[in-house]
Amino acid sequence: MENQEQNFCAYCAHQYQPTDAFCNTCGYPLQGKPQEQKHFIANRATKEIDLIALNKKIERACESLYWVAGILTVSFTFLYFVGPTQEDPTVFFLTAVIIIGAFLALGAWSKQKPAAAIISGLSLFVVLLLVDAIVQPSSIFSAFVFKILVIIFLVKGIMAIFEVEKIKKELNIK
Ligand SMILES: [Zn+2]
Repeated sequence: MENQEQNFCAYCAHQYQPTDAFCNTCGYPLQGKPQEQKHFIANRATKEIDLIALNKKIERACESLYWVAGILTVSFTFLYFVGPTQEDPTVFFLTAVIIIGAFLALGAWSKQKPAAAIISGLSLFVVLLLVDAIVQPSSIFSAFVFKILVIIFLVKGIMAIFEVEKIKKELNIK
């Protein structure tokens, strides 16, 4: 008779079998002591707060791709019109458009695939810094704080994405 009863998880309200020790959906200790059940709920709440903070970091990393595009637009425009005469203005202009376009595209792409977009953005940014440092060694210290901040935001974003994946797996969220 008891097997006919419908049981619903106290945490996520999904149905479970009377023989289940843990909820299949959320992992709630169905047969656990009240202490364990309380601990489960508290732990889950903490993780959900962590998720909010991590998602903010990912958002900031995605935004910093747009920041890079914006700052590069300003500095390329400055160099194009005010800076030292370019050897080949057309090549300079096209290079600038491609690089700025790439960061804009990555910013847009990061809405769907944050991990891939941020990792690509970070790689591209580091490559550009290296090229710049080789071509123009004095450039290493120009806009130094900006460069460091971009790298920090992007790296933190990548770390946050992995952390979110881990927590989501633990919490069984898709
Ligand atoms: Zn549950």
